[in-house]
Amino acid sequence: MGNRSSLLLREEEIAQLQQDTGFTPNQIERLYSRFTSLDRGDCGTLSRDDFLRIPEIAINPLGERIVNSFFQGEVSDRVNFRQFLQVLSQFRPTKKNKENKNNARDHKLRFAFNMYDLDSDNMISKDELLAILHMMVGANISEDQLTSIAERTILEADEDGDQKISFEEFCKALQRTDVEQKMSIRFLN
Ligand code: CA
Ligand code: CA
Repeated sequence: MGNRSSLLLREEEIAQLQQDTGFTPNQIERLYSRFTSLDRGDCGTLSRDDFLRIPEIAINPLGERIVNSFFQGEVSDRVNFRQFLQVLSQFRPTKKNKENKNNARDHKLRFAFNMYDLDSDNMISKDELLAILHMMVGANISEDQLTSIAERTILEADEDGDQKISFEEFCKALQRTDVEQKMSIRFLN
């Protein structure tokens, strides 16, 4: 991708993006216009500040964590359109009867897990759980209550007794909840 002066996507680019992300051409076009409207400098990439202007992210208690998820791995300080779509595809509500449904669910679980795993050591500790709870509930609940929620959550999910939640334990704990619905953020409306 890189820098571009044209605001239009070429057909072969759309086809490739469709294959990589599962979005329909129509959705890709709409997300592209969304992308370019956020791209104030018209440089083909977005900064953290650009993301924080997305209303759904600005009002989300986990907004900053969500923005961080765009800036992982090979991505340093700017996100191009392909990387943008790849992260968004993890929030996409999956269609019923789709053959890669399990795969999509795994991705969402991994994504959610990473959101909690603040220090990226592949374990969710009580402190990390507490930090996330703080972000989500603000000041409405007392510190003691939050601590007891975090402790109870760890206790319920922790199967090997190391006081931390591994990805496997996390998946089992969430098995009965509708992760896809919870993780779906409506960027497309
Ligand atoms: Ca951790
Ligand atoms: Ca454990």
